[in-house]
Amino acid sequence: MTEPPSPDVRPGAAPPRRARRLLLVHAHPDDESINNGVTMARYAAEGAHVTLVTCTLGERGEVIPPELAHLGGAALGEHRLGELTAAMRALGVDDFRLLGGPGRYADSGMMGLPDNDDPGCLWQADVDQAAGLLLDVVREVRPQVLVTYDPDGGYGHPDHIQAHRIAMRAAELAAAEGHPIAKVYWNRVPRSTAESAFARLREELPGLPFAEAAGVRDVPGVVDDERITTEIRGEGTAPAAKAAAMRAHATQIEVAGEFFALSNELAQPLFTTEYYELVRGERTGAGREDDLFAGIGETP
Ligand SMILES: [Zn+2]
Repeated sequence: MTEPPSPDVRPGAAPPRRARRLLLVHAHPDDESINNGVTMARYAAEGAHVTLVTCTLGERGEVIPPELAHLGGAALGEHRLGELTAAMRALGVDDFRLLGGPGRYADSGMMGLPDNDDPGCLWQADVDQAAGLLLDVVREVRPQVLVTYDPDGGYGHPDHIQAHRIAMRAAELAAAEGHPIAKVYWNRVPRSTAESAFARLREELPGLPFAEAAGVRDVPGVVDDERITTEIRGEGTAPAAKAAAMRAHATQIEVAGEFFALSNELAQPLFTTEYYELVRGERTGAGREDDLFAGIGETP
């Protein structure tokens, strides 16, 4: 993504940067909307530079709509890139990229499947090499904030684990080059919030188009409440933008009101407040932060 340089920029100088720059690293198209849709919509609307790097096209995902069930492999990857494009339009994000370009790393499939041994899949990728590709993005964008998964990838999917490793390694390499990312966050859900949301889901399940409910254990990144450092509340149009972005991933997600289901057809809550654990950088104040950029000065 290149922006035309403004006339007062010296030839050869980098284009002007926006004051606040947020980088999110995800495994598959749809993960960004489920985990961070409200956050991305909010910061994009506020004029921050929001950059999404997705590591694979998710071409081994299961397809929900019967009329699209014929899609698989490269055709599914291409279709999901179209879904991602529509989701980013819904969130107002124009800078989204596939790590190393579309198709560079293949979806690894669920943990334990023979797909994990595909030499072209992300699980088999050299982490330093992949982190080098991400470092190129970091050098260009110079984000102050990085968002990714915890070391278990939230729930143990090999591509999510690798996305975490690649993101954290790129952050290390950027710091070693002298331009550290000020704050690094992992996606989280506080246990008490998940439990109360599932209690409401069980009450409302008879009116929903889903036969069964998932459980708290099916939600990635659930931790004890004390570990949550930051929450981004869905205000204004952000919750609707998140729901629209999730709907855009129609091969993967079915949305119904405040709930959704993946291909396992188990209903779960659609969180319109998103939660984070700060793992690098300075926490501001005693309570939960309400801004990922809290405490970061506006640096050029
Ligand atoms: Zn995923």
